Amino acid sequence: MRAHHAQVADVIQFSWVDGPGNRFVLFLQGCNFNCLACHNPQTIPLQTPRAKDYSVEEVLTKIRESLPYITGVTVSGGEATVQHEFLFDLFAAIKAAPDLKQLTTFIDSNGNAEKHIWEVLLPVTDGVMLDLKVLDNERHIALTTQSNTAVLETIKYLASRGKLYEVRLLLIPGQNDSDEELRKTAQWLLRADPSVRVKINAFMSHGVRASARTWAEVSDEDRLRYSQIMTEEGILDLV
Ligand code: SF4
Repeated sequence: MRAHHAQVADVIQFSWVDGPGNRFVLFLQGCNFNCLACHNPQTIPLQTPRAKDYSVEEVLTKIRESLPYITGVTVSGGEATVQHEFLFDLFAAIKAAPDLKQLTTFIDSNGNAEKHIWEVLLPVTDGVMLDLKVLDNERHIALTTQSNTAVLETIKYLASRGKLYEVRLLLIPGQNDSDEELRKTAQWLLRADPSVRVKINAFMSHGVRASARTWAEVSDEDRLRYSQIMTEEGILDLV
């Protein structure tokens, strides 16, 4: 991959669901997980005819088109850190541009990147929204094909640097939402970051691959139970 260029799956020039405020969102192609519950499996391969090649300068031009309407830029995926060299170049360019430097820079990540990558990214990154698929490693491998060791290390590292904006839990009935799993997850997250903000996302089968299409969706009772358990365990910032 050439530095300053990226394989891009999609661009949204204005969003209020991809981080704080109104945001320009860049979805990078390529992911190092292969989640059964993935809603965008077309973003998993790094190379695909559907992706578009963008330079940093081309993305900056698009950001400037959105500038009157946005407070920040989010880079998502796929997995944003798969193309971490481009990600650094883009955020460094935003921070260095007099007309863009007021924009906040956020990463939406599955957390599966080594510490040395985060060490490079954090000086130009204001916050990270991180997906924790499941705390139990065996379940994690079953759901994503990969270990969660790097994810858990990432959460601890980002919290220690004050850059963990939010941990997102995609809860799937019967797969990762038992009372025991939820309580252990809340306790682990609070040890990593006593003021952790947790966002609960409910699994929806629409658009997922065949292997997950028959899984149950989250009911209103499930949602209530998730909130009750998280609150009982001491998660105060629950979205
Ligand atoms: S981490 Fe996200 S993009 Fe990657 S496979 Fe899982 S759900 Fe899909």
